[in-house]
Amino acid sequence: MQRGEKLYEGKAKILYATEDPQLVIQFFKDDATAFNAQKRGTITDKGVCNNTISARLFELLETEGVPTHFVRQLSEREMLVKRLEIIPLEVTIRNIVAGGMAKMLGLEEGIVLSQPVFEWHYKSDALADPLINEDHIAALKLASEAELEEIRRLSQRVNAALRVYFSKRQIDLVDFKLEFGRHQGQILLGDEISPDTCRFWEQGTRRKLDKDRFRRDLGDVEAAYQEIVRRVVA
Ligand code: 5GP
Repeated sequence: MQRGEKLYEGKAKILYATEDPQLVIQFFKDDATAFNAQKRGTITDKGVCNNTISARLFELLETEGVPTHFVRQLSEREMLVKRLEIIPLEVTIRNIVAGGMAKMLGLEEGIVLSQPVFEWHYKSDALADPLINEDHIAALKLASEAELEEIRRLSQRVNAALRVYFSKRQIDLVDFKLEFGRHQGQILLGDEISPDTCRFWEQGTRRKLDKDRFRRDLGDVEAAYQEIVRRVVA
């Protein structure tokens, strides 16, 4: 599958057209941003790591009954995906308090939640992805009630599957962000699932193996991404 014209360039990925209008190529860059792009940098071979990790996790989720946009991996940094009409929502699921939830509610990081916390955010760089509720979504017609129900169902399935998968690899899935889109009348999981979009803590040590190492200047950023590749591929 050959790369056609560039359709979109985001902070971490580029989308290219292919000869098939229903398929696009998702190219993973090494560029890293944080705090709504106020902090910028590169993480060597992040693109290779995130492509490998996302491909493996999309394959796993397909077997767990979660339809995704993933078709196949094309190269180190490229995957072939189904073209989506992206729904402008970011779904966050939290199992352990960290990041935005710790800040919003004045909580210590590391509190294990008695049940997963599900959040809707409006996907907007200009507004820094604000937290919204289902009334906002309905009033602004961002998605139908049936679509929200489907997204919630699929997201819960993703959480259940990934928690088990990572736990077997001695990693706690702290929280993560998902994006969904419409493709030929179906809701598919899109974007990526990687240390850019999830918080991963090593069990026992609570060592961070995700983008928080970049966000908070903790060092050993590349090593953390490589460690997740190593455990996911194992
Ligand atoms: P928080 O709301 O705590 O900042 O993020 C919760 C989880 O979702 C974290 O795992 C974080 O990496 C992911 N996440 C939330 N918003 C974004 C975003 O805009 N981009 C990326 N890459 N990840 C996000």
